[in-house]
Amino acid sequence: MKIQDTKTGKLIEFESLKEGEVGMYVCGPTVYDLGHLGHGRSAVCFDLMRRYFIYKGYKVKFVSNYTDIDDKMINRAKEEGISVEELAAKIIPEYVRDYEALGILAPDISPKATDSIAEMVEVIEKLEKKGHTYVLDDGVYFDVKTYKEYGEFSGQKLEDLKVGARVEVKEGKRNPYDFVLWKFKKEGEPAWASPWGEGRPGWHIECSAMSLRYLGEKFDIHGGGLDLVFPHHECEVAQSLCAFGQDAFAKYWMHNGFINIDNEKMSKSLGNFFTLRNVFEKYDPKVVRFMFLQTHYRNPINFSFDLLDQSKAGLIRVRDCIRNLKFEAENSAEGEDYSGIQEKLAGLKSDFENVMDNDFDTSGALGAVFDLITFANTLIQTKKLTKKSANDILSLFADFDKVLSVIFEEEKDVDDDVKALMKQREEARKSKDFAMSDKIRDELKEKGIELEDTASGTVWKRV
Ligand SMILES: [Zn+2]
Repeated sequence: MKIQDTKTGKLIEFESLKEGEVGMYVCGPTVYDLGHLGHGRSAVCFDLMRRYFIYKGYKVKFVSNYTDIDDKMINRAKEEGISVEELAAKIIPEYVRDYEALGILAPDISPKATDSIAEMVEVIEKLEKKGHTYVLDDGVYFDVKTYKEYGEFSGQKLEDLKVGARVEVKEGKRNPYDFVLWKFKKEGEPAWASPWGEGRPGWHIECSAMSLRYLGEKFDIHGGGLDLVFPHHECEVAQSLCAFGQDAFAKYWMHNGFINIDNEKMSKSLGNFFTLRNVFEKYDPKVVRFMFLQTHYRNPINFSFDLLDQSKAGLIRVRDCIRNLKFEAENSAEGEDYSGIQEKLAGLKSDFENVMDNDFDTSGALGAVFDLITFANTLIQTKKLTKKSANDILSLFADFDKVLSVIFEEEKDVDDDVKALMKQREEARKSKDFAMSDKIRDELKEKGIELEDTASGTVWKRV
């Protein structure tokens, strides 16, 4: 199995550190506002890798954090007149909801940065002992000149690096690329105790400390969006290797590509900014996932609503085929397969695995899905489908869907209390107690269930 490693810039054979196990750490969002398309794409890309490792029989430990303390969090909390903690408590469930709608498996561990402050302090202490830090009036800094490989990770020379928006300018820094490990407390900001005084962690140290805590000094894959390569991951590499040794930290680095909007960079100032929630208002989240899968994870996606419409049409074709196959599985004749069916299915399965083994080529994998659809549709049209072969095809689709998670519609299932409420409302309607019926409808809406009364009965959907 080959993967593209950002650090070496090469397509290389993946070999896990421990046989049959993969440890993955993926940088998660800063939880000050709803997630946008870029967050969704990154989360889908790494979910897909995780699912394919599981498909291949690996035991995967998947960690993805929430950054719940930084300037954006502090400013937004102030604007809203709530605490930073309350802001995180409000936004994190929104991410959980969006990611679940996109078919993303919940991480094994999703730590909040503020739950690992002690671990961050320990890493900074290690760095201090080894002479990699210095203190200014506003915090503790990492001295990049003490790590001569600084810049190599992102493929840049220190002299060539330009001070950009993400490198903070501060008088007294020994080098413009020195980055803050610990920020001293300012009036009205949340703060934690440390050997250097009250304060809060810098952004980069969070991921080094949380990956150490949950995956150890060395683990298999560290991932994130391409925009994190510099400075975030460059800094993570510098501080982790200085603290734990040259051989420590992630064995492989993987990054997903950007999303452009109609050929322009997505940004709030250009007004072409879409939250996932904006898009989910008009499109099934699985259409969005399908759109992500159509492009290789490293390539940019040029997002447009036309592209979503194409994905929607593609997904309808998939779902139509599944519906027809389910019908055939119930209604076709018993008996053995027509000759050649099993060979064809085995061939498509190996096509799927070959493209996925090649650095998770999901557009190739969808190619195998559509080949299977064409094959199934031909069998249906020529009436060569037995019950058994319909079921065999469905089971191959189910295998593919363990990885892709777009082929089968979710079985709608609800909690018992919701079921009970629906039943009560049905009875209220029958006895024409419309006040009661409306009251229950509102109650269900609060639980995220919307009802629609149609001629053939009441249908519901999640909102
Ligand atoms: Zn990170």
